[in-house]
Amino acid sequence: MKLFGLYLHIPFCVHKCGYCDFNSHPLEGQDTAGYVSALAREIRIRAGSLDSGTTIGSLFFGGGTPTVLEAEQLIHLLDTCRKHYQIAADCEITLEANPGTIQSDFLPKLKDAGFNRISIGVQSFDADELKLLERIHSAEEVDSTVRTARDAGFGNLSMDLMFALPGQSMHTWQSNLARALDLEPDHISCYNLTIEPNTSFYNQHTAGKLVMPEESLQLVLFQYTMAILKERGFNQYEISNFARHGCECRHNRLYWLNSEHLGLGAGASSYLNGVRSRNIKSPAKYAQAITTQNSATDFKEQLNPRESMGESLMLGLRLKEGVNIHSFEQRYDIGLTSMFGDTLTKLLEQKLITLDGGHLALTEQGLYLADSVILEFISFPSTTP
Ligand code: SF4
Repeated sequence: MKLFGLYLHIPFCVHKCGYCDFNSHPLEGQDTAGYVSALAREIRIRAGSLDSGTTIGSLFFGGGTPTVLEAEQLIHLLDTCRKHYQIAADCEITLEANPGTIQSDFLPKLKDAGFNRISIGVQSFDADELKLLERIHSAEEVDSTVRTARDAGFGNLSMDLMFALPGQSMHTWQSNLARALDLEPDHISCYNLTIEPNTSFYNQHTAGKLVMPEESLQLVLFQYTMAILKERGFNQYEISNFARHGCECRHNRLYWLNSEHLGLGAGASSYLNGVRSRNIKSPAKYAQAITTQNSATDFKEQLNPRESMGESLMLGLRLKEGVNIHSFEQRYDIGLTSMFGDTLTKLLEQKLITLDGGHLALTEQGLYLADSVILEFISFPSTTP
């Protein structure tokens, strides 16, 4: 059975955070009902693009902030997916949630409807850091969201945290992690803050108003994160992602394995039959295009085998287990060493990668330099022309 990932994008947020470069738009003035109706229409239309027998193993409601919608709207979208797709009995159905948007009766309704995993955008427990990041919630609202989610029966709960914030010290990061661990999540994502173009942080940084921590401190914060989460029983299955046994995020794993997936909604990307495509980003234009033309695709490219191989390595090397060499060679009908021989030899000599147990993976040193190691495979001069 071919397990497949389905992603639904809800592109609205109460407020646009200063660091955010996702496709998210302030909620005020948006036609959310029109958007939900267009998304339900796209769910129906795009079902026909999947091979018969395709079974959805992961369904992910991401954003933006899906929890700015009414519970009934989210349930309507889930029911529409159920009606038009074959959903695995044990499908992981994730809801991204912002603690500033959760009312007490909201999560029980969603749990009853079939959502079984919640991913809470926490980022920090420190009031000053939350203010700096322009988050709309307090640490106390995180506590109450976790309590509400657990009471509603969510057995699989994830938290997103962010480190290397301007002005952050080892002490504040340690207390953030300690607060998170006190709430006993099943999964934690810890992202190193990066300054992205077209964000308010970018402008502040360029104007010298936002000073990022030294790289040496960033590395120490990351090393501490890995050590403490390992000590507390979390498996670092991807560079930034840590899970208790059996709680690795299925949606993310499908993505890192460069598997086919269907992304629906404004700005959502898909990878199907070797073709990458993306929808129009503007929610209003997306809704109009779906309603009038039955399609909102505004970008499409057929990846050639070399590009696809580069992507598989780029994504797969982020996983701790690395890239399964046998699967890779079967998928592309080519030997890994014949394609990347020189690069592999160089990185092995530098002790940045290992080739053990049928997997190509980063060493601990390679993990710290992941971006530049991965770049070696993307901009590779291959051994064979
Ligand atoms: S809540 Fe998330 S998606 Fe929305 S603006 Fe903030 S970081 Fe971006």
